[in-house]
Amino acid sequence: MRCPSCGAMETRVIETRTADEGRVVRRRRECPECSSRFTTYEKAEEKRTLRVIKKDGSRETFGRDKIIRGIGRACEKLPVSLEQIEDLASKIEDDLKAEGYGEVSVSEIGRRVMEGLRKINQVAYVRFASVYREFTDLQSFQHEIARLIGEKEVSRNGEED
Ligand SMILES: [Zn+2]
Repeated sequence: MRCPSCGAMETRVIETRTADEGRVVRRRRECPECSSRFTTYEKAEEKRTLRVIKKDGSRETFGRDKIIRGIGRACEKLPVSLEQIEDLASKIEDDLKAEGYGEVSVSEIGRRVMEGLRKINQVAYVRFASVYREFTDLQSFQHEIARLIGEKEVSRNGEED
């Protein structure tokens, strides 16, 4: 960064701060030649923050750890590794960012967690689904359980043949 006062080619960064929720990087610089100080603003690349819209309409910063804890609770005492849980949380975050989400609802995150858990462990999937109240009534919940049991019976029959 060239000095605006004397034109020296090298200037020293003395302070770095982010502004506008991390979208802008603000740097205080000092010229070693003439000692003048100036500030630069740069756009932060790839540091877009993802925000979560909660059920009451309030917003909070997307918390990967929070999602890992939520998935972890659904996977308690089940043969699901921490790595699988972390991978799922990372994939959801990466996908949302890649799809251009700036804000995302809790229920959309919940839907994606369920989608992922369904492939990892079906007991964890049902547990998570019931916590997130994705099943709006008892009937649809029972229907889903019945479907899962049905799938198991089909595969068991398949093994016997
Ligand atoms: Zn200078």
